[in-house]
Amino acid sequence: MSKQKRFFLSEEEIPTQWYNIQADMPNKPMPMLDPKTKKPMTPEDMFPLFSMEASRQEMDQEHAWIDIPEAVREQYKYYRSTPLVRAYGLEKALGTPAHIYFKNESVSPIGSHKLNSALAQAYYCKQEGVTNITTETGAGQWGCALSYAAKVFGLEAAVYQVKISYEQKPYRRAIMQSYGAQVTPSPSMSTRAGKDVLTVDPNNNGSLGTAISEAVELAMTTPNCKYVLGSVMNHVSLHQTIIGLEAEKQMEMAGEYPDIVIGCFGGGSNFAGISFPFMRHVFSGERKTRFIAAEPASCPKLTRGQFQYDFGDLSGLTPLMPMYTLGHNFMPANIHAGGLRYHGAGVIISQLLKDGYMEAMDLKQSETFKAGLLFAKEEGIIPAPESCHAIAAAIAEAEKCKETGEEKVILFNLSGHGLIDMAAYTQYLAGNLFDHEVSDEEVTRNVKELEQIIK
Ligand SMILES: *Cc1c(COP(=O)(O)O)cnc(C)c1O
Repeated sequence: MSKQKRFFLSEEEIPTQWYNIQADMPNKPMPMLDPKTKKPMTPEDMFPLFSMEASRQEMDQEHAWIDIPEAVREQYKYYRSTPLVRAYGLEKALGTPAHIYFKNESVSPIGSHKLNSALAQAYYCKQEGVTNITTETGAGQWGCALSYAAKVFGLEAAVYQVKISYEQKPYRRAIMQSYGAQVTPSPSMSTRAGKDVLTVDPNNNGSLGTAISEAVELAMTTPNCKYVLGSVMNHVSLHQTIIGLEAEKQMEMAGEYPDIVIGCFGGGSNFAGISFPFMRHVFSGERKTRFIAAEPASCPKLTRGQFQYDFGDLSGLTPLMPMYTLGHNFMPANIHAGGLRYHGAGVIISQLLKDGYMEAMDLKQSETFKAGLLFAKEEGIIPAPESCHAIAAAIAEAEKCKETGEEKVILFNLSGHGLIDMAAYTQYLAGNLFDHEVSDEEVTRNVKELEQIIK
């Protein structure tokens, strides 16, 4: 391992505001539609489900800067600023002239970026007199973040975890339970949505879509209970901009500016977090930064999905959102990057991709673990399977620089560590990990079904 150079901010330098990209977007995102009336939603329409403040932030296209509540910023200080690291070891191993930096969000108490939004959402719920919060989780990172945040602000948490992950990743379940959350494998018989799936397919492995349906149903049928989401929504991306805002200051300390910014992509929150603050300088014409979202080849909504209105969940309970989607019925293959197994993308990201402000790259699972292992050997951190996608994309770009001799500055977000995902690494090291390809036929069939539902 070579020397690393790490950049930190002092407590006073930690940002006091989040960046709301909606205010600066040349083309605003199209409105979310009420699933029944198909009319544009207002913040008030979201109050029954989400906290009022999160609902307002969701549709705020006016204020570019939103204050971070002092109580949330105090909690951020437990682990922020997160380090910005110059990856000399990785550069050397690749023999690339590129300068590679990563923002290390894996240092949070629960090991990923997800806490940045969980703390904010739990805080707003508490402020508004809510006593219970519920959510879904895939690989378990979001559930862990929410469980931690619920504990911090004195709320009860109920988490629906995708069944395959509940079984494959028992340690995350244990982490959630350690913070006092109630964890249920999804699909479950405890909700209408879960029963509907299990009646048709008793061995269903679950998906984020189904788990969302279950959590939404619980929130709608339980007094004083709100639903909190870990990705996809605009307010979640907003809270995650703390990542990029810190990185911007830290890159300045390093005396460089990124040519390319990369994040792995599930619903878009960590990608948004690292990208949006830098993108405002592209809108203003000051910079020409490239932004790359790294997604799994087995769940390729950005590279092969279609831009259109779709539901966020399997049962069609969420608002209709204008987004790149594979169709809400899409059942992604059981890859280890559980956090990237989602059929759609957030509405802001979708608009930005449509308008050409960002790109997407799809990566095979084996390729991502190969990249993750090289990173672990050179930089000492075992990356989350999700983060391996960002690393693989950064390596692909660094390899291109090797061919052209360009000294580009590449910044990627290390969204989390993989210490609770070692079963996945074991499988890869034993040569038992396979790539899952999605056929064009499957994509076409799913999106067609969609067109029949949403005319
Ligand atoms: C949840 C998660 C992701 C994917 O979610 P986004 O909202 O797209 O960021 C990526 N990496 C890690 C470590 C995660 O926990």
